[in-house]
Amino acid sequence: MIEMKQVFKKYPGGSKALQGLNVSIAQGEFVYVVGPSGAGKSTFIKMLYAEERASAGKVLVNQVDVTKLSARKVPFLRRQLGVVFQDYKLLPKKSVYENVAYALEVIEKDQKFIKQRVTEVLKLVGLATKAKRFPHELSGGEQQRVAIARAIVNQPKIVIADEPTGNLDPTTTWEVMKVLEAINAQGTTVIMATHNREVVDGMRHRVVRIEKGRIVSDRAGGDYNGY
Ligand code: ADP
Ligand code: ADP
Repeated sequence: MIEMKQVFKKYPGGSKALQGLNVSIAQGEFVYVVGPSGAGKSTFIKMLYAEERASAGKVLVNQVDVTKLSARKVPFLRRQLGVVFQDYKLLPKKSVYENVAYALEVIEKDQKFIKQRVTEVLKLVGLATKAKRFPHELSGGEQQRVAIARAIVNQPKIVIADEPTGNLDPTTTWEVMKVLEAINAQGTTVIMATHNREVVDGMRHRVVRIEKGRIVSDRAGGDYNGY
């Protein structure tokens, strides 16, 4: 499903963000990517949706080497993935419903399907009653759940999240984590970069720990420190 082979990333300017990563992630796994600030977590995540390109190595996503993908094909890759960011990236002038529906409108689904699917997904993330609200009327945790709804509305097999709880307090962090866990329980692969020790230690899954651009541990049901 996802495979990295000897992946290196050197940014213009010289920073060696990834230095020979090898990792394989199967369909349905939940994987935390942890490590100190500057370790390469974001770069790892960005490789997967071709936001950054590897300097060397292979990054296979659903059998396709995304390091070789032409710019024209990147949108097709992204439609197979759901991506969630620390700062939500919602459209401020669209309602909750419209933010989620938009992801289906751009791929030209019909309105009847859109209405049914958006309603279903808002229910899944616990926001059925807030469909008409605007992002600024919601708490951070609610905004992130809207972002997750948007990420999964097209039923991607893989959801990628970069510090999704980075701006949230402990209560709303758990609301968001419960949603990600529910999505994973339905068979979706979840890959989440985080430095939230409480989350990683409290909700056990595979932990890939990166330090200075290298994987220093990789354990099923591991803790934040890599044990
Ligand atoms: P993390 O997400 O673990 O904090 P990053 O992947 O953001 O780590 O960064 C890894 C390294 O690459 C750091 O040294 C960072 O300064 C550098 N880096 C990240 N993005 C860029 C960029 N766009 N240009 C140059 N250097 C970058
Ligand atoms: P949290 O502690 O989870 O961050 P908040 O205290 O921000 O939550 O919000 C609590 C509730 O009040 C949420 O359900 C949210 O939808 C609602 N709310 C917060 N800000 C506004 C606002 N500006 N307008 C309308 N409702 C709001």
